[in-house]
Amino acid sequence: MLGDAAFVARPHCGMGVTKAAGDALAITEALERHPSVEEALADYSEQRCRFGASIVQHARHLGAYMQAQLKSEEEREMAELYRTPEAVMRETAVPVKF
Ligand SMILES: Cc1cc2nc3c(=O)[nH]c(=O)nc-3n(C[C@H](O)[C@H](O)[C@H](O)COP(=O)(O)OP(=O)(O)OC[C@H]3O[C@@H](n4cnc5c(N)ncnc54)[C@H](O)[C@@H]3O)c2cc1C
Repeated sequence: MLGDAAFVARPHCGMGVTKAAGDALAITEALERHPSVEEALADYSEQRCRFGASIVQHARHLGAYMQAQLKSEEEREMAELYRTPEAVMRETAVPVKF
């Protein structure tokens, strides 16, 4: 499974196409690198599940400032941080380190 079929993060992180293309590249490279399909899929799954999970984590991080009811002090600080267009542009549709 790859692209949206494997993992869908909330849309505001703008990573859907990047992730689908990265998944396609990763599975091609894994199939070239390993002698068996099973090993290639295990390698691919390990790499891309980590990446997918990091996107979901990033979506949660970005999503905190969109909540109608901001609950904690940390969430209120996040909301303040993302009130500027510069902050939104800096952290949206860019890959995060994982
Ligand atoms: C309104 C909207 C805006 C978006 N904006 C952005 C953005 O700005 N940036 C970004 O990165 N991502 C964006 N996305 C997300 C992005 O489009 C997806 O994450 C990306 O297209 C996923 O690629 P995919 O190849 O996994 O799936 P898809 O692009 O959905 O491709 C799946 C393909 O399978 C075909 N298909 C389905 N069922 C069958 C079947 N039974 N047999 C044969 N073919 C079948 C479909 O017709 C489709 O062509 C947006 C999505 C939407 C809906």
